[in-house]
Amino acid sequence: MSGAAPTAMQHGLQSCETCGLLSRPAAGEVEGRCPRCAEELSFRKHDSLQRTWAYLIAAAICYIPANVLPVLTTTTAAGAESDTIMQGVVLLWSPTGWPLSLIVLIASIMIPSAKILALMYLLITVQRGSVHNNAQRIRMYRMVEFIGRWSMVDVFVDTFTAALIQLQPLMSVEPGPGLFFFAAVVVFTMLAVEAFDPRLIWDSISSKEPSSDEANPGEANSNEANPNEANPNEVSYA
Ligand SMILES: [Zn+2]
Repeated sequence: MSGAAPTAMQHGLQSCETCGLLSRPAAGEVEGRCPRCAEELSFRKHDSLQRTWAYLIAAAICYIPANVLPVLTTTTAAGAESDTIMQGVVLLWSPTGWPLSLIVLIASIMIPSAKILALMYLLITVQRGSVHNNAQRIRMYRMVEFIGRWSMVDVFVDTFTAALIQLQPLMSVEPGPGLFFFAAVVVFTMLAVEAFDPRLIWDSISSKEPSSDEANPGEANSNEANPNEANPNEVSYA
C-alpha cells in the first residue's frame, strides 16, 4: 500500500455516525450537530480507548463469576443440584443431547471470551499505533459488532436449556447467581463495542505514512506553523 488516503479529519471534515454525511463544523473546534439528521458529531468518539478499556475490564471481571458460580439450580426428588455453565455443558453431553450442549458451549463460553479477546487485541494494537493488518482488524471489529447484535442469544440459549430440562417431571429449575454475571458480561461487551471508535485503526496509518501527509500533520487545524506556504497536499473538496 503506498500513500494513505487523506482522512476526513485531516481536512477538518467530520462524518456522521448515523447517516454518514460529511460536514465541516461551522465554528472551528466546536463539533456541533449533523445538518442532515441532527445527530451529535465528533471527529472521534470522546475518550474511546479509556471507555472501551473500562467496559472490557468490567466484562472480563464478570466473566469469572459467570463461569464459576452456578447458573442453574435443578431440584429433583433426590435433592437440589447447582451447575455452572461448564457443568451444564458436560451434563447435556449425550448421544442425543450433544447439539444442544455444543450450542451452549459456543454461545456461553466461546463467543463471549472471543469477543473480549478480540476487543483487547484491537485496543492494544491501536494504542501501539500499529499499521499492520488494518483491513483484517476492521473486519474483526465488524464481526464483533455483528455478533454483539445477537448477544442476547447467549442468555436465550441458557433460558431455553432451562425450559427443556424443566420438561422432565418432578423437576424444577431456578436461575443461579452466575446468570446475573453472565448477563453483565453480555451488556459490558456490547457497551465496549459501542465505545470503540473503529476510525482509530486507520489513524495510525495516516499519521505514520511518510509519503503524502508530512506537510499535513495530524489535524487540519494545526496548520498555523506555516500560514503563508500553500499546502501542496491540500485537496480541495467542494
Ligand atoms: Zn447525520
